Amino acid sequence: MKKVVLGLSGGMDSSTLAGYYLAKGYEVHPIIFAYGSKHNKYENECAFNVAETIGCKEPKFVDLDFMKQLFTSNLLQDQGEIPEGHYEDSNMTKTVVPGRNAIFITIMAGYAESIGANVIAAGVHAGDHAIYPDCRPEFINSMATSIRNSSDGKVNLEAPFISYTKLDILKIGYAFKIPFPYELTRTCYKDQVLSCGKCGSCTERLEAFEFLGKEDPIEYEK
Ligand SMILES: [Zn+2]
Repeated sequence: MKKVVLGLSGGMDSSTLAGYYLAKGYEVHPIIFAYGSKHNKYENECAFNVAETIGCKEPKFVDLDFMKQLFTSNLLQDQGEIPEGHYEDSNMTKTVVPGRNAIFITIMAGYAESIGANVIAAGVHAGDHAIYPDCRPEFINSMATSIRNSSDGKVNLEAPFISYTKLDILKIGYAFKIPFPYELTRTCYKDQVLSCGKCGSCTERLEAFEFLGKEDPIEYEK
């Protein structure tokens, strides 16, 4: 059976990505990364629920807590405030975690090669390009070359959503034979149980649901 390794955050994009590969007949092997972000404990729980509910293989949990000690980003615990507003606003650059996707993809590639998976997948999408350099096609293409070279051609990096908006991703999720259970996902960047509805990540998610004419099934802070 075809196998894919992907990082599952518990958010909309990586969760839909897991569903996308399941629909294509892949055995999906998720890795759940804890890297010391403010929202890690909430989204990690969502990721485990998503994986179990949609029929992924047992996720591997990878603790990268050192990232919050060494790296500077408002997304990380004990660092600056999460900015509110639109995702593409320049203040959102405060939520960039340096090197994050390079680290995740490298770990995914090593795991994929170890279990005989030919594909690793990243859930990056067009809405990320403005703010996050490690979500842009230039980065993904060069990383794909590096992974192919480091694995002697055994592992390929794919990013099927790279030119899609959050709305396109949502449309894919609702077009599955069983529409994706988005009530299990969480997108908010803040360190609180209920999603805030105001950070860049929540704003982009809510807009996607609104444009699609659907109600976001998760609960938000009043
Ligand atoms: Zn939020």
